[in-house]
Amino acid sequence: MGRVMVESRREVLKMIGLGAGLIPIAWATSRIAVAADVPLVTADDPTAKALKYTSDASKTADAKPGSKCANCSLYQGAAGSAQGGCLLFPGKAVKASGWCSSWTAKAS
Ligand code: SF4
Repeated sequence: MGRVMVESRREVLKMIGLGAGLIPIAWATSRIAVAADVPLVTADDPTAKALKYTSDASKTADAKPGSKCANCSLYQGAAGSAQGGCLLFPGKAVKASGWCSSWTAKAS
């Protein structure tokens, strides 16, 4: 009987370990889904206008060379994503290639 309980406890611990291992995958997947579901910031957005947001950093003389949303500390998109959230545009997504006057280098 004791052996049955030990086996059972091992099975329970395995299941807990498997579940814990899946949490980061589920979290990452949900972040990608959220970024894909929210609308992109548009040029007529008041905050975008105020911050001189552009969806293509290479087309503005204001952007420091190499600066873009993808390497901004406020960018919430996953590495390599085409677009993602930004802390300054809640509920919307910005292009990874974009830029605005609040760009701040991501800590390396
Ligand atoms: S704050 Fe950073 S991520 Fe957000 S729009 Fe400006 S440059 Fe892009």
